[in-house]
Amino acid sequence: MKVAVFSTEPYDRKFLDAANAAAGSPHELVYFDVRLEPKTALLAAGFPAVCVFVNDDVSADTLRALANGGTCLVALRCTGYNNVDLEVAAELDMKVVRVVAYSPYSVAEHAAGLIQMLNRKLYRAYSRVRDDNFSLNGLLGFDLHGKTVGVVGTGKIGVIFAQIMHGFGCHLLGYDPYPSPKFEALEDARYVDLPDLLAQSDIISLHCPLTPENHHLINATTIAQMKDGVMLINTSRGKLIDTKAAIAGIKSGKIGYLGIDVYEEEEELFFRDLSDTVIQDDTFQLLQSFPNVVVTAHQAFFTREALNDITTTTITSISDFEQGNPLKDEVKLPQKVATPA
Ligand code: NAD
Repeated sequence: MKVAVFSTEPYDRKFLDAANAAAGSPHELVYFDVRLEPKTALLAAGFPAVCVFVNDDVSADTLRALANGGTCLVALRCTGYNNVDLEVAAELDMKVVRVVAYSPYSVAEHAAGLIQMLNRKLYRAYSRVRDDNFSLNGLLGFDLHGKTVGVVGTGKIGVIFAQIMHGFGCHLLGYDPYPSPKFEALEDARYVDLPDLLAQSDIISLHCPLTPENHHLINATTIAQMKDGVMLINTSRGKLIDTKAAIAGIKSGKIGYLGIDVYEEEEELFFRDLSDTVIQDDTFQLLQSFPNVVVTAHQAFFTREALNDITTTTITSISDFEQGNPLKDEVKLPQKVATPA
């Protein structure tokens, strides 16, 4: 089947080509560097399937343009599907698949890495020593052992993250509308309401999906409920945090450390080299200027194991679609519960 693959980088091509070659009957993958959005959807005319990533715009206009060109499958090579208008996809009878599970260790380990990077100021230590400056002033950290870590969202990634932090000797608080027995099984882990988690945690890490309900879950009100000097980590989705409120929190000292792998306006920045460009996003630039903020550019998933899982699952879903098999990882529109008249 012909597949238009958007937002591709050399690593996408390498791993997709390998997974495609390993498939029984390989597909014709055509790679585009550009992001899928209404104005680039024309490129997919005549392709029954498109393959997209986290920052592709799969909104109503894009879906309608794709449908006009004959596309009937959207294969997301990621877990989150917040960038897809599922209602319009259903209306157009377009199938949407995603990668429900891939190495959850990739993201959980990156979150733990951000914590140590911020706590022990490894970014500063690295450049200092390279500059023959061996002073320790400004590098003081704290023991993770005995600290309380709040895990918002205890699904596949949140549970692994909790296990890692348990290994450091942390107390664990979880918040999730659907409790996980794996989280509850951890020694010194318990579920609490979100306000309790915010009030009691020294470190808060976000591992829930972005939904219309939790947009800006972390805002001025919820930040005010946190401990002074809290460490906030987000490896989930940028729009979970109101960045302007986080900046106010950093300036007041309420937020002592911020580590983010995702940013609410990342579509205009991430996954490209802008080192020769004047970045116009003042909020991002301000965020970057603080000494207690570390930003990575949506790389938490970026391990060999995760890319193998992602591309193999994506190619399998495309083959299943072509062969009319059930789509194991289909994203369906949530059923509306009928309310009595
Ligand atoms: P998952 O579906 O296994 O777990 C998500 C959990 O969050 C579920 O248990 C769910 O009940 C819970 N949840 C939903 N809404 C919530 C809310 N408002 N508050 C608290 N909990 C809530 O998903 P996962 O595989 O663990 O992935 C989690 C998220 O990580 C994804 O949705 C995606 O946004 C993000 N992610 C980021 C990267 C990256 O590279 N930075 C890579 C993969 C996934």
